[in-house]
Amino acid sequence: MSFFYELIQALQELLFPAHCLGCEEQFMQLASCRPPLLCPNCRRNVAVATICPPFCIRCGIPLVVGDNHLCLSCLDNSLACITKVRSVRSSFLYQEPISALVRQLKFTGNLTGLATLATLARQTSSLMDLNEPDLILPVPLHLQRLRERGFNQSLLLARACFPQWRKKIRFDLLQRQRATVPQTRLNGKARQTNLQQAFCMKTPQSLDVVQGKNILLVDDVFTTGSTLYECAKVLLEAGAGAIDAFTVARSAGLSINSGHPDNI
Ligand SMILES: [Zn+2]
Ligand SMILES: [Zn+2]
Repeated sequence: MSFFYELIQALQELLFPAHCLGCEEQFMQLASCRPPLLCPNCRRNVAVATICPPFCIRCGIPLVVGDNHLCLSCLDNSLACITKVRSVRSSFLYQEPISALVRQLKFTGNLTGLATLATLARQTSSLMDLNEPDLILPVPLHLQRLRERGFNQSLLLARACFPQWRKKIRFDLLQRQRATVPQTRLNGKARQTNLQQAFCMKTPQSLDVVQGKNILLVDDVFTTGSTLYECAKVLLEAGAGAIDAFTVARSAGLSINSGHPDNI
């Protein structure tokens, strides 16, 4: 980088300080204007939110001590989990500033946080240690919600987090056939039935494409795992080999099918 480039950049940042995407505070970012566009305090919080070993080898929940192993919840539900989602990995706990970036992406249509979120996720071992899948499937939105939002955040995240596997990303195989009510609005049994039959294979040809394939499902936030679980069920019934999942964030203290609300 030339001296003049650095000088111009420093002057630019002096005159027009950046706004942190996490807390909206103005801050000086003399090193670079490239993502992650976060202030020093939010960067420290990213480090706190980053999921590091040890974690559950199935659901990915952070554990307190020892090597990676099965958490109690996965031991209890082991049969159901083994037949559906083989493993879930997430880069961060769903807390500030990660939650702010996800909310901006998902609910305000502000896509500027996408590059920052993906840049941060690609630096985590949860993402870097993933085995190369045969196919990557973003969790689909129902057509009605896709029209309202204008984009599928899971597809954008899949493309931004896995540029090296871009050709493996397929959004034309799985579809959401029912417009489901957000899980947060439901209680008890309604949550369990809400997502049933919500997903299906898009065409008969989709079944041929997934035959025997190792598939990585991608979603923004893991809360109960019920969305991933329902997608995996459809894919396995269609003949897929094994289903793993990656989400950028996950809520703390929950495990697959623990009955807590999912963000959809
Ligand atoms: Zn900040
Ligand atoms: Zn677990």
